[in-house]
Amino acid sequence: NDSTTRNAWDDLPIRDELRGQSPYGAPQLDVPVRLNTNENPYPLPDALVDRIAERVREAARNLNRYPDRDAVELRTELARYLTRTAGHGVGYTNVWAANGSNEVLQQLLQTFGGPGRTAIGFEPSYSMHALIARGTGTGWISGPRNEDFTIDVEAARKAIAEHRPEVVFITSPNNPTGTAVDADTVLALYDAAQAARPSMVVVDEAYGEFSHHPSLLPLIEGRPNLVLSRTMSKAFGAAGLRLGYLAADPAVVDAVQLVRLPYHLSSVTQATALAALEHTDTLLGYVAQLKRERDRLVGGLRELGFAVTDSDANFVQFGRFADSHTAWQQILDRGVLVRDNGVPGWLRVSAGTPEENDAFLDAVRELKKEHD
Ligand code: PMP
Repeated sequence: NDSTTRNAWDDLPIRDELRGQSPYGAPQLDVPVRLNTNENPYPLPDALVDRIAERVREAARNLNRYPDRDAVELRTELARYLTRTAGHGVGYTNVWAANGSNEVLQQLLQTFGGPGRTAIGFEPSYSMHALIARGTGTGWISGPRNEDFTIDVEAARKAIAEHRPEVVFITSPNNPTGTAVDADTVLALYDAAQAARPSMVVVDEAYGEFSHHPSLLPLIEGRPNLVLSRTMSKAFGAAGLRLGYLAADPAVVDAVQLVRLPYHLSSVTQATALAALEHTDTLLGYVAQLKRERDRLVGGLRELGFAVTDSDANFVQFGRFADSHTAWQQILDRGVLVRDNGVPGWLRVSAGTPEENDAFLDAVRELKKEHD
């Protein structure tokens, strides 16, 4: 939205900081191949769909009652999943869940950010961090990255020392670049953040399961101000479920109780998530296949002569384009929807099924031919 665009809400008495802003808006277009929102391309297997129906049926019998406000059974199963797959033992008192990790992040900013406080992220990164900051009245500081999209540790340390933010976001693997952050970098930024003031460091590991590297979860040990955020939207193929969770010191879980809405996780959501967690191994099998497809996209794009950022996620950033919006449109004209995240010169493609990825590679091959 530039200043000449009129919004329907311009005459409403909305908060000043929302004036002239645009809502989150990945286009939901009806095209044959949609590789734009980092969804998992595999529908849930039939056995899991049946199990969801069963568990939801049980939950439906009690829909006259409010759900378990503390979602203890679900948090226990999420803790078990992390303990088994993320290299560190946690219990349900370390875990909190909400409607998508977006809501987890919102609760964290409601608790630790807010008016008069600031949060920093290293951009380009997940645009919702800044949007949720705005929505919660938290000031936003855009920290730097290196040319290759890794975090510039020295510059990041300086920015933290200068601005003394109450919340530091570290996205690993990062969206939209796919870049993983190593443990040493997280530790350096955690120490810098604690030296500036006691502040919360939030590691957003929405794509953690797709990484070539182990989870950063073990770093929460002995670091009460470190929070790891995860989601069932990507690895569990359940973006429609809306289930995100965090792992941290139990004090953090207690603190977010101050802002969570009562009964925020419906009984239907809790039942569905529990059913999905029963099928973890099958779903992680799809993750393994998607990782291979992701690596194939990286290789295929490089072979075609594109620049490609190393990816630890279920998507790939590729370029460089003189005008990425035009390139986005040209790929769309060939029936493939990718994402223009507004990073000049770059586009992002999510790893789909082998057939979808072939269609994408065909489309960009044609694009390349036309330009040569
Ligand atoms: N963090 C990152 C880095 C993401 O890319 C996304 C989704 N695109 C989310 C969090 C939020 O996902 P959800 O609310 O579906 O858990």
